[in-house]
Formats: sequence, C-alpha cells, structure tokens
Amino acid sequence: LPAFGDDHAAHEALAARPLAAVTGAELQAPLIQGGHVRYANLDYGASAPALTIVSAYLNEILPYYASVHRGAGYASQISTSVYENSRNIVRDFVGGRPDDSVIFTRNTTDSLNLLAGCLPQLDGAPAGEVLYLDIEHHANLLPWQGVPHRSVIASPTLSATIANLRDELSQGGISLLAVTGASNVTGEILPIAELAALAHEFDARIVVDAAQLAPHRRINISESDVDYVVFSGHKLYAPFGAGVVVGRPDWLDAGTPHLAGGGAVREARLDSVSWATGPARHEGGSPNVLGAATLARATQVLAGLDQQDWHNHEVAIRSFLVEGLESIEGVTVHRIFSDSTDTIGVVNFSVEGFDAGLVAAYLAAEHGVGLRDGRFCAHPLLKRLGLPSGSLRASFGVGSRLEDAARLLAGIRQLKTTGL
Ligand code: PLP
Repeated sequence: LPAFGDDHAAHEALAARPLAAVTGAELQAPLIQGGHVRYANLDYGASAPALTIVSAYLNEILPYYASVHRGAGYASQISTSVYENSRNIVRDFVGGRPDDSVIFTRNTTDSLNLLAGCLPQLDGAPAGEVLYLDIEHHANLLPWQGVPHRSVIASPTLSATIANLRDELSQGGISLLAVTGASNVTGEILPIAELAALAHEFDARIVVDAAQLAPHRRINISESDVDYVVFSGHKLYAPFGAGVVVGRPDWLDAGTPHLAGGGAVREARLDSVSWATGPARHEGGSPNVLGAATLARATQVLAGLDQQDWHNHEVAIRSFLVEGLESIEGVTVHRIFSDSTDTIGVVNFSVEGFDAGLVAAYLAAEHGVGLRDGRFCAHPLLKRLGLPSGSLRASFGVGSRLEDAARLLAGIRQLKTTGL
C-alpha cells in the first residue's frame, strides 16, 4: 500500500513540477519493478488505503482498547477519552458549530439512515418532505424513499439544475434538501454553500453527503451554513467500520434512536424508556472506538496538508488522465454538467466497443491497474447518462502518482491495439 510518508513526498515533488517537465520515460514506469508488480491503485473513491500515520496510531491505541463510558479502570478511561475527543477533532475538521452533535455511525449509508429517522414531526406525522437529485449515490437516495420525498432530475447544466431545485423548493413543504458534495460517479463538485442558502431561503435544511468530498476538499459547515454533513472513515484514509454525522442537535435529539439499547437511555423500565439526548441517543451498544479514533486521526492528517499542494497534486493527475483518455479514439470521458468547474480526483469513462467489466478485469490482470467498473450505486444517473450497463471509474488521492494514471493510459492504448 502507498505509505503516506513516501508518497506524500513523491506527490509534493510531482505537484511542484510542471507537467511538461515529466519525461516520457518516467511515464512508462515498468509494470515489474525490482521483481514486484507495483499495483496502481486507482480506486480510492471506493476505499482509500489507510495512511501510515493512521495505522501507527491504531497500533498505539490498540492496547488500551476497552469498554467506553462504562468502566472505571485505566484502559476504560483512556478509551473513553480517545473516543470522546474524536468527536471534537471531527467537529473541528468540518468547521462545525460548538453545539453541533457529532454522532459516530458505521459509514455514510448508516449516517443518512440515522438522519432519515430524525426528520421533524408535526402532530406525530412528518412535517415536510425530503428533496434530492437523481445524481445521488443510493446511500443518499434510498433512505429517503422510506419518508415523504420529492426528486428532481438534474439538467445538463448545474445552473439549470439549481434553478429546478429552486422551483421545487418554492412549492413549499420541503424540510430537507439532501445533496452530494461531489459525485461519486464523475467527481463533479456541487456548490454546497449556494445550495445551503437556497434551502434556507425556503425554510428547509440541507444535508451534504461528503463521502467523496471530504477526502479531497476542506469543508467548513459553519461558513457554508450547512446543517448536516456525513462521511465515512474508509474513504478518508482510515480503516473500515466508522462513519459520522455532524450537525444541528435539535432534530438529532428528538429523532428515533438509531440503535436502541444500552447507553442510549436515561432510564429504562420494563416496558417503557426515556431516551438520552446527545450522541448517546443514537449510539446504543458498545461503539466502534478504534474506527472513530482512526477516522479522527485521518482528519487531522488531511487538515495538516498544504491546501494548495493537495489541490495541485490532484489537478495534475486528473488533467493528465483526462487529456490522455480523450486523445484515445473511442474513449469518452463522462460528466453530468457541462458548466461544472471543480472536480475531485475521479474520472469516469467508457471505451467504445468494450464491456466495462472486461476492461477492468483486463487492466487488473495485464497492467496491475485497479479501478472500478459498474453502475457505482447510482443506477438512476447511469441510466440517464445513457450508460445502463455501466462504465469505468478511475479515482485517486494523496498516495497516487502520475505513473498510476500513465499505466492506465498505456493499458487502454494496448487494449485498443491488440483487443482483449
Ligand atoms: N455517498 C457517496 C457519494 C459515496 O461515494 C458512497 C460510497 O461509495 C456512499 C455515499 C456510501 O458510503 P459507505 O459505503 O461508506 O456507506
């Protein structure tokens, strides 16, 4: 796996160098280096490899792993303090307001399901509907199908899409606008501050699914006036198993407890209960201390990166990859909006005449390149983009190198020459 220490230095060096200075020879990095196949991981969008700093931290806290909030012993106290402090770290990472709740969950999907149980009620019935676009990952689509909802089909431009959302919001009755921060399919970034202002203009709140955005861009929910943000540790260079919801406490404190059980209550009786408020309300049972702590540690590493350096690194790889793909006949790079201006490290494409699944398998087997094919848990979008049987997605992050993208391009060129 890319070691953050090494690769951070490598990507800084790459980012600092104009692309024109990268020689052709460098871009033809051999598949076999020192007798090993160097795996070109272009699947960061699915799960990003844990940073070495994060895995070292995991080893450091592992010996103290104990039950939180319950034991009086030393290990339990340490675990409790690591766990509770993780909330503060994550709140800071997203620029949360001092009273924002930080609730640890299993992942983004879990976080959005939790929020779906916390929508405001009026006389025991939902007080409004949830509004979402058709470009969403299923995690930000299916939880809302269980509550009153409306959806809007995105237009070919972002500006027209926002106008369509405005029309829908102006009809009234929307309590929550649920929107992705960046598309997991094409990487295009949505203007979350503008969407937050729009939602608030019509007395709705906004939740941003930042599963893809948070690993690539700094988020500040106070400045953007976003009510809720959710994301997953495993896409943010931490191990699997933890996600988070950060946001305004009132709905969360009144909502249906996400996991009824020990720790979530003030007082339990044989056939009734008074639920706790605060994060405990939704975190019944023994929590994932190590998941939360490593997620928090990863946010600290990202917060410490030089913003410009981080951005340059990503832009360098992305533009190199997009230009390379577009120069190959029969390769199409997909996007949702013709006027979107900012994109995270995700590139979606198809190779005419070749099944996406077979191309992905060929790239893995013959070129040591790992990317994702399929419909990216975004079936409505893929169908509307005219890709009902799927496409290919290359995604990268802080440990990626230009050679990884070069390897992918070399693989596609060879595929076009020799076939499968
Ligand atoms: N939202 C977006 C935009 C995603 O890309 C993903 C995962 O691919 C999810 C939500 C779901 O994340 P998780 O599988 O961690 O719940």
